[in-house]
Amino acid sequence: MPAIAEVLSTNAPRPAPRGNDLPTCPVCADSMVAAEASAFLTESIVSYLWTCDTCGYGFVTKHSMKRFACN
Ligand SMILES: [Zn+2]
Repeated sequence: MPAIAEVLSTNAPRPAPRGNDLPTCPVCADSMVAAEASAFLTESIVSYLWTCDTCGYGFVTKHSMKRFACN
C-alpha cells in the first residue's frame, strides 16, 4: 500500500513578506500599497477599497476588527 503524503501548502505563492497583510491585485498580482478608502460596515468589520496602480482594477476587502472595550 503506497504511502501518499500530501503536504498542505498555501494555494498561491506569496511574494510579499510575512507580516505584511496588504492584498495583491487579483488581475495582475501586483501588490497594493495603500487603501484608497476605508469604511466600517459594522462596529467590528471594516472594508477597504483598493485600486491597482498597474491595471486600474478596484476591489474591496473586508476585515474583522477586534473591539477593544473602553469602559
Ligand atoms: Zn492590477
